[in-house]
Amino acid sequence: MDNKDIRVRIAPSPTGFLHIGTGQSALYNWLFAKKMGGKFYLRIEDTDRERSTKEYEESILGALCWLGLDWCGEVIHQSERIQLYRTALEKLLSEGKAFYCHHSQEELEAERQRQEFEKQPPRHECNHKDLPLGKEGGGIIRLNVGDSTQVISFEDQIKGHIEFKAGLLGDFSIARSVSDPLYNFAAVIDDAEMEISHVIRGEDHISNTPKQILVYEALGLPVPLFAHLPLILAPDKSKLSKRHGAMAVVDYKKDYLPDAIVNFLGGLGYTFSKDLLSREEMIQEFELSKVHKSGAIFDTKKLNWINSQYIRRLTPSEFKNLTGLNVSDLAVPLITERLEKLSDAQEFSYLWEAPVYEKELLKWKDSSLEDVKDSLTKTLVVVEELETITDESLRNKLELLSVDTGKASPNNRSVGRGVVFWPLRVVLSGREKSPDPVQLAVVLGKDEVIKRVKEAIGKI
Ligand code: GLU
Repeated sequence: MDNKDIRVRIAPSPTGFLHIGTGQSALYNWLFAKKMGGKFYLRIEDTDRERSTKEYEESILGALCWLGLDWCGEVIHQSERIQLYRTALEKLLSEGKAFYCHHSQEELEAERQRQEFEKQPPRHECNHKDLPLGKEGGGIIRLNVGDSTQVISFEDQIKGHIEFKAGLLGDFSIARSVSDPLYNFAAVIDDAEMEISHVIRGEDHISNTPKQILVYEALGLPVPLFAHLPLILAPDKSKLSKRHGAMAVVDYKKDYLPDAIVNFLGGLGYTFSKDLLSREEMIQEFELSKVHKSGAIFDTKKLNWINSQYIRRLTPSEFKNLTGLNVSDLAVPLITERLEKLSDAQEFSYLWEAPVYEKELLKWKDSSLEDVKDSLTKTLVVVEELETITDESLRNKLELLSVDTGKASPNNRSVGRGVVFWPLRVVLSGREKSPDPVQLAVVLGKDEVIKRVKEAIGKI
């Protein structure tokens, strides 16, 4: 196959938001297309009129754009291709390769229960297929699977050889009517018409693949290559579901950077040479056959770490645009170096507005509020004497002050530092934990520091 003939697609149904697993499938399709110089398409599988909505579709498109997974050409909609499916269905019906099944729901249910009782796989082998009844419109349309002893096999590009006995499938349904095709039929028609060379999708679709191969064969269409991706698993190795947290890609928008999500999803089913890598580096390294065969655990800790690394790389203006925070450029690194999730930036609100705190918090260990007042008064003098606050100038002066203050406790030199630095930390941040108070003073600037120190002295 010529590389330019490589064509892949992602085919989400707009019956919900873009699932994180579908996001990963999209990524691997996209990486493969980019690596091979092929094309990546987007098809919206919206034949289920009742459950499909435009809102979900828009959200899916938005999520793919947010992840930076651009597709070629126009978005393809199954709902606009009903005529295509109809022609193919009519062809199969006229050739006796598909037929109308008139068994009632009750009959099918009784068959299902019998099979369950006999521990057989559920399927429907229909005795209408060779009867005139099978040609009479009305019932559901099924594929005439023919020889139930035949073996359907394919070489999965990730998992290797896979085979199924046709007898396990029965005469499976392909459409509710000629104008209402089901997934296994419409997907085949589209993949063939779009000349998809590699169908790369989640392994939950493996059981659909033999059915689809039979449809290709019935229509005399070339069968594409298949690659089934391992599923993303929850920490307890169960299928990832809502109870494990956010499932939709859009849910990650408020906390995570798209580069971090892409990097994380990429590494969930593939071993790249390093933990952090750009889309371009992933493209360089990606090989379809090296995708893992079995599922990877969704490790939120790892995702958060990756996110923190990308947050650090943001410029102040990128950070401010993303969070909408009105914080000084100087203060941004103090936040980004400590952040795992964007929404946690609120914890640093003291960098853009005066903090609220209880005055008791100002006390270092067993020092008194009088000690605090004394230390803050001296700190105020120090700050007022500086032309501008620099890390070095303020730190040196405060260290000197600490030595003086600590003289009362010659056996414990840290007492002086605590009595000087602790209240300043609280005055500037209102918190027990914060970046170093001198760093805070530098980014807040002389005027703001004086204002906050004076307010604190006034409170005591
Ligand atoms: N609509 C199917 C899904 O969202 C597409 C599966 C496929 O890629 O064939 O799971």
